[in-house]
Amino acid sequence: MWFAAVCLGPSLGLLPVGAMAKEAGNCTAGATLRLSAPVSSQGSLLLVEVKSPKPLAELKGDWGGRSVPFWQDAGRERVQRGLVGVDLEKAAGTYDLKVTGQTASGEKISCRAMVAVRKGRFATESLHVENEFVEPNPEQIKRADEERQRLREIFDRATPERLWNGKFRVPLDGVSTGGNFGKRRILNGKPGSPHGGVDFPAITGTPVHAAQRGRVALAEELFFSGNTVVLDHGLGIYTFYGHLSEIDVKVGDDLEAGAVLGKVGATGRVTGPHLHWGLTVERARVNPLQIVRLFEN
Ligand SMILES: [Zn+2]
Repeated sequence: MWFAAVCLGPSLGLLPVGAMAKEAGNCTAGATLRLSAPVSSQGSLLLVEVKSPKPLAELKGDWGGRSVPFWQDAGRERVQRGLVGVDLEKAAGTYDLKVTGQTASGEKISCRAMVAVRKGRFATESLHVENEFVEPNPEQIKRADEERQRLREIFDRATPERLWNGKFRVPLDGVSTGGNFGKRRILNGKPGSPHGGVDFPAITGTPVHAAQRGRVALAEELFFSGNTVVLDHGLGIYTFYGHLSEIDVKVGDDLEAGAVLGKVGATGRVTGPHLHWGLTVERARVNPLQIVRLFEN
């Protein structure tokens, strides 16, 4: 979000997401675990599917100490799915994904998969700008810190019910890709934090649509991201919409997929009008375009 440029870069760090990969983990009780991709990378999103010969009751996952909530689609009582977010700055390596739970008849199930995380391919950009843009004053730093803390508290709460249903969409009409995800900016020689969302340059006033059904968790002006809306989609999934010229919703509103939540603008620390779109899954910052692609088919 920091001093976001508005150029449309290539979308980086995306994994090709196709059909579910073949069995990638071992389960007890004759169940199988599959992942949407055999290898992941920083900032990516994986779909996990557990299939059992018997109807499933509750399943829950553990991914490096963060929980992975599972859901069941109507009419598919032997299958449950969950989303694993690989944070943008998670160190490359191999990680354990554990899933435990039971069948409807009370038989225990446990699954384990090793998930390889590769380094993401993100751009670095060096900028030299006037110091007033680089150094917020102490009051602004305090405000930004408080806002960051509040956002963290929001992203930390996982609403237990799944509020979304179906595909996710890009929030702007007629747009399928955006840039800058994971880009690291070096401002006057100082490395900043990586850019945690995707930027879509657009004309001020362009309607911004909810990526899926959700409840408004935040709708206000923030220091870095200007007029901002955060939508809670349930199960620890949040989408973030920044730099809006206008906010058309309030906290607590339930929005349908595609509802207009505001308009594109250039509020906050930006160089020009664009939408900053972010996605967090159980606190992991991931490329939001991945959730669109995962449920495309
Ligand atoms: Zn941005």
